[in-house]
Amino acid sequence: MWIYLNDRFVDDANAMISVFDHGLLYGDGVYETIRSYGDQIFMRDEHLDRLRRSADAIGLRVPVAEDDWPALLNEAMQRNDVGNEQIDAYIRITLSRGVGDIGLDPALCPTPTVIVMTKPLSPPPPHQYQSGVDLIVAKTRRNYPGALDPQIKSTSFLNNILAKREAIAAQAFDSLLLNWESHLAECTVSNLFFVTNGRLRTPSLACGILDGITRRIILSLAREEAIRVEEGAYTLDQLVQADECFLTNTTMEVMPVTSVNRGPLGTGKPGPLTRRLHQIFVTNRPRFLQA
Ligand code: PLP
Repeated sequence: MWIYLNDRFVDDANAMISVFDHGLLYGDGVYETIRSYGDQIFMRDEHLDRLRRSADAIGLRVPVAEDDWPALLNEAMQRNDVGNEQIDAYIRITLSRGVGDIGLDPALCPTPTVIVMTKPLSPPPPHQYQSGVDLIVAKTRRNYPGALDPQIKSTSFLNNILAKREAIAAQAFDSLLLNWESHLAECTVSNLFFVTNGRLRTPSLACGILDGITRRIILSLAREEAIRVEEGAYTLDQLVQADECFLTNTTMEVMPVTSVNRGPLGTGKPGPLTRRLHQIFVTNRPRFLQA
């Protein structure tokens, strides 16, 4: 596997970073997960924009010029034989504060570390879309935005990993995290939607969630289809009594949820609006691809 590291492509055996990298020492960095459909990257510029916003929020310089990213991502895919007609690509960009002496001052690290990894995308198995997946509600709360804003896509991912550990221990697909006010927030790597009486609801950004790019698309497609949409602060009771629920992210698209805390949600089967929105998403996908 070819990895872009700082200023060149190296093979994975030589893709090494220093033990003094502050990404390792302090989780001081930001990242993006992107995917392609064939050779076209889904919402490329929006992902690169979010990377820049995350980097700006932590005062980190993005060491790749905006105009250079498309060619760099294409080369990363081509070198690894992904992002072509046969194989969709999974792309991970990591930016860390870089190498510097031990200590919290970012000025210790003059040069950010850049890593671009690509591999074949492995989408969820079809049976998960057919039956839906189950969630538990984690004891771990989503980060309080006043402490570490979930809108920063930070490599400090322990909040999500602790919640994922809870899901694994409970043999559930994933954990749903509540926020500091016990309102619904999001799952460990996805945004949450639910449907009540034909109304599509999703926690608002003010609930302390990542501004998911798939979430944004689902909201705008739903509005185009004149589906009633609401963003707000919701309780677990409202979710448990909902008719349908689904998760969104770049690699899963729209994943139905059919059980929460071991109880069936709605009919216990993927709901009709969930299926319709996924279909609308697939039909409209070409609008969101960039070469
Ligand atoms: N929420 C969290 C915490 C995530 O890590 C992700 C994606 O990685 C998402 C939501 C979904 O975001 P997107 O639709 O941009 O992939």
